[in-house]
Amino acid sequence: MEPRLDAWGVYVHVPFCPRRCTYCDFAIAVGKSAEERERYVQAVLGEWQTEKLPAGEPLAVYLGGGTPSMLSPAQVEQILQAIRLRSGGLGVEVTLEVNPETVDPERLRGFRRAGVTRISIGAQALQDHHLAAMHRGHRAADVALTVTWARAAGFDSISVDAIYGWPGQTLGEWQETVRGIVAINPDHLSLYQLQVEPATALSRMMKAQILQPVDLDLTADMADWAESYLIAEGYDRYEISSYARPGHSGQLNRLYWTMNAYVAVGMGAHSFNGTRRWWNVRAFPEYLARISAGHDPEDGAESLPREAQMREYAWLGLRTVQGFSRSRFYDRFGQDPIEAFLPVWLNLNQNGLLAWNTDRIWLQPRGLDLANQVMAALIDAAVMPPVSPLASSLRRANLER
Ligand code: SF4
Repeated sequence: MEPRLDAWGVYVHVPFCPRRCTYCDFAIAVGKSAEERERYVQAVLGEWQTEKLPAGEPLAVYLGGGTPSMLSPAQVEQILQAIRLRSGGLGVEVTLEVNPETVDPERLRGFRRAGVTRISIGAQALQDHHLAAMHRGHRAADVALTVTWARAAGFDSISVDAIYGWPGQTLGEWQETVRGIVAINPDHLSLYQLQVEPATALSRMMKAQILQPVDLDLTADMADWAESYLIAEGYDRYEISSYARPGHSGQLNRLYWTMNAYVAVGMGAHSFNGTRRWWNVRAFPEYLARISAGHDPEDGAESLPREAQMREYAWLGLRTVQGFSRSRFYDRFGQDPIEAFLPVWLNLNQNGLLAWNTDRIWLQPRGLDLANQVMAALIDAAVMPPVSPLASSLRRANLER
């Protein structure tokens, strides 16, 4: 079920990490003291007080990073309390991203008491040599321990992240990772294909040929195997990278895929109000300085013209396995999406990548595998002019015959 049109979410960026992973280009802050972390929390609280909020209570709250589990439970509680006070509630789900090396049973109980309802654990791999090459701070055995502690602390919604396509990773190792994660029975898995970002240690190591890229066919085999295995194990694939047991899909992501609004605070955080996107400064000292001087931390913004919104709405909706609703698209943009991008849909349909009916447009399994090609086709697409209501209904009837 898609979130309501006026549903919105809250994202809090917590940038602290014990070290930088070799593949990471996120806005993070390494090696900060407890005092600096506290100053950051106070800055985030200050920014939150100045945010213009949509009406009503948020659908979901997400503390991402970085490593939000480096905050103390008391700091998390303070943030959640501030959100609750200004917006009337925390919605149906409060997620905290957790790295195994930063938690113990007591901290997890504290996060649960603070109001966190769901944790997302960065496992990434279950082979210690790959974790070392990633420069992760935990070992494979720590992942199962974290899940055990989290269950004991009262979390009944647990997500685990893993990466495939890592240099040197074999299909057997990937299977070992996914099987190992399923054995600890998480409610949700996010499986990300490795992206080599330019300004990372990983990119430099690959340029120097210290690490070799994984063959693309092997990466596709990893994705295919994981899909079959997880479906057989009772998980639904509901988005390109996401699998969940019934009732456990991530709510903030659902808002993102339906182009709903979200209010984001913290350094480098991106907010969106339905037509405009804006983002904060990425540097830790500058973010603190701006907030303490009473200035807006916004670093840039873009207003999306209607046609760009239509393309983005379609692309984001197609990331989900169910695709997107034609009537909802019509309600938002005043035009049937089939008409708006007819040449694109026909082409993708002829190539076996996409299908539609009277209600929805969605990617076929092959389209999900080639999602980047679908996105490229949409990014370049011209929006067809709206046709008259009569011509439109005749055309629709022809298309759906
Ligand atoms: S833990 Fe996450 S945010 Fe932190 S350095 Fe590693 S990948 Fe980046």
